[in-house]
Amino acid sequence: MNASLVSLRKVRKSYGDLVALNDIDLSIDQGQFVVLLGPSGSGKTTLLSILGGFTTPTSGDVWIDGQDVTTTPPAQRPTVTVFQDYALFPHMTVSENVGFGLTMRKVPRGERKQRVERVLETVGLHDLGGRRINQLSGGQRQRVALARAIVVEPAVLLLDEPLGALDLKIRQQMQEELVELQRRIETTFVHVTHDQEEAMNIADIVVVINRGAIEDVGPPERVYLRPASLFTATFMGDSNILTGKAVASDAGHTTVDTPLGAIVVEGHVDVGATAHLSVRPEQIKVGAAQSGDMTSLGDARISAMVFQGAHRRCHARLGPNQDIDLLLYVPPEQDLTPGQSVSIQVRAADIVLLRD
Ligand code: ADP
Ligand code: MG
Repeated sequence: MNASLVSLRKVRKSYGDLVALNDIDLSIDQGQFVVLLGPSGSGKTTLLSILGGFTTPTSGDVWIDGQDVTTTPPAQRPTVTVFQDYALFPHMTVSENVGFGLTMRKVPRGERKQRVERVLETVGLHDLGGRRINQLSGGQRQRVALARAIVVEPAVLLLDEPLGALDLKIRQQMQEELVELQRRIETTFVHVTHDQEEAMNIADIVVVINRGAIEDVGPPERVYLRPASLFTATFMGDSNILTGKAVASDAGHTTVDTPLGAIVVEGHVDVGATAHLSVRPEQIKVGAAQSGDMTSLGDARISAMVFQGAHRRCHARLGPNQDIDLLLYVPPEQDLTPGQSVSIQVRAADIVLLRD
């Protein structure tokens, strides 16, 4: 009845007065790498464990592969979960850990051995089948947990902050490996993280979650460049927000009265309503020549500047009382010093209009 592999319909989870998930609707297509992104306590783990069958929703239903699985126990679902702490058996070897799910599913010994070997090859652990878990590094344990999950060939692989325990370098390497693995096996992945950079690195589709509700769903580029909500604009990367009132709106454009003056942007917000304008730091141009498609934000004084390799991260103060602080990324080669006065502009099309 639905073309999506996974669909959640009005899924709600309450713990007493606390609403952990507030009527979530979400569809996931086969083969997608989906990332649930949100701050701690936003409901990511709750959503994942509802997909995995470890938590039953208070109301609403969950469909996977054409079946209503709302009350189906984990073992009877076409899903496998990789938990944050991996939950490996420390006294067993790598091969025994990976083969465990197959043993439980009564897969014959010969086939089991073959599948374990194949999957260890897939995750780059073919030499380590005989090792014990406590003889492995963090990255290797992570691979064992993945191997143990994919060996049972689930339709959906659920991963709860699987890279959270790893050092930055290994984490970035594992992000690339995860993407590469997902492309190869074409399994649908639903991966939880609170790290927006990780989400951008790996996701086909990012689902931004805040206080038990979905704020935005889409490819990372779209979510970054055209965030659907104020929360998304500020959580997914850095953003400057100018808040004001809509004073005119017609023909697809709205004029917002901001502390930096009236700014005309694409999109509609009702006249009289509060509106937020979001501008990414790298979209702000310093001292650029005025041209038709640029909007001037006025003159500013550079108040702080830090070299960050690919760019310089600057703060600029502007507005009538110099009390508006803008974050901007400036190319390292641009001549700029703290204290300098500069004119600040942004392409009109880069300004995102957001409702309150
Ligand atoms: P996240 O994974 O995004 O950090 P969770 O899904 O774990 O968030 O939690 C969402 C909210 O639900 C939090 O406020 C959390 O305290 C609450 N919560 C989660 N599980 C339970 C539970 N078993 N009993 C009571 N409250 C819970
Ligand atoms: Mg969690």
